[in-house]
Amino acid sequence: MIDTDELTKRNAGFADGGSFADLKLMPSGSLAVIGCVDPRVDPSDVLGLKLGEAAVIRNVGGRVTPETLRTLEMLSKVVQARTGGPRPGDVHYAVLHHTDCGITDLAAFPELLAGYFEVPAGDLPAEAVTDPVAAVRVDVDVLKQKLPTGVFVSGLVYDVATGLIDVVVPPARVEA
Ligand SMILES: [Zn+2]
Repeated sequence: MIDTDELTKRNAGFADGGSFADLKLMPSGSLAVIGCVDPRVDPSDVLGLKLGEAAVIRNVGGRVTPETLRTLEMLSKVVQARTGGPRPGDVHYAVLHHTDCGITDLAAFPELLAGYFEVPAGDLPAEAVTDPVAAVRVDVDVLKQKLPTGVFVSGLVYDVATGLIDVVVPPARVEA
């Protein structure tokens, strides 16, 4: 178990490195990633992101649920408060799913998944929880319906066996 002594030691090393200095709240890479909580798929590592480059939302499966959309709505308000205007268009929202995702084990618990997606249990097949490639397409489509026009949305699937991502849905602008 990693205890607080260990965390404090590692944090001291981080602070010494100085990479935190002068960062802005707005992601310098104009990137938002929606990914899974799985410890093997941290977007910072898998996608080589540096501190401050991307806003990252992680949940079970990296899914675009109603809660994810509420979080994005709150973030847009923060951006408006910080920039004094609407979010600039050149923002990239990347959905990052992965192979061997634990959400597939939850197919045995439809009541949990129905609550998660806020849909009737009978509608769960449309969420494609057992197929990351299908699921990432589903979530990109949801984002394209909900995000403002002009932003970019893409869908990626990371293979935990090879360490490589597959660009399932290349980045495309959300159309009016
Ligand atoms: Zn996962």
